[in-house]
Amino acid sequence: MTKPERLTALYSQLAVDAPTLPLAETANDIVPGEGSVNAQILFIGEAPGFHESVEHRPFVGRSGQLFRKTLTESGIPETDVYISNIVKARPPENRDPVPAEIAAYKPYLNQEIEIIQPALVVTLGRLSMGKFLLEVKISQVHGRLHKIVWQERALYVLPMYHPAAALRATNVKEAFIADFKKLPKLLQWIEQQQETAALTQDLKEALL
Ligand code: URA
Repeated sequence: MTKPERLTALYSQLAVDAPTLPLAETANDIVPGEGSVNAQILFIGEAPGFHESVEHRPFVGRSGQLFRKTLTESGIPETDVYISNIVKARPPENRDPVPAEIAAYKPYLNQEIEIIQPALVVTLGRLSMGKFLLEVKISQVHGRLHKIVWQERALYVLPMYHPAAALRATNVKEAFIADFKKLPKLLQWIEQQQETAALTQDLKEALL
């Protein structure tokens, strides 16, 4: 199956599973991820809010507008990224998703990562950061590139503040924008690392 076919199959399955999942009653409550299946960057937010649940698109409300504007101003076209959430349905009163809800949606998010195979995962906010980085504080690690082993593979993860937090405090907004500005160079660096690793692998295979 091609990447787009695999993603379509994943979201069809999510729609079928919706009545058994927390926060959703029907497939209509599901907000799927969106973007390019060949995205180099996968952004992971927390949960859809009101506007997202109406439009069935991630990050289209107030914080989504800040996120998308900052992305464009950093020189990264929206069409080069994929945007998703750790839970795919809106929690009541926009509260934070609880661990059981995050766990229920985890297999779908893991499959998105598996299908898209992004060069870089950018986590937006504390909860999505917690999927990859344990026992760290977002105030200390935001904007710092982490290379981790995830599902037995190397993965680059860049934690960032959530745009909703950026809307609440000027200093957080400044940090949020500054971290975004680092993205093009970081991506270039990661791609160079991956090319070097691929060349080293080719050389090893040729020599052995
Ligand atoms: N906040 C999120 O974390 N995700 C969305 O899709 C919208 C707001």
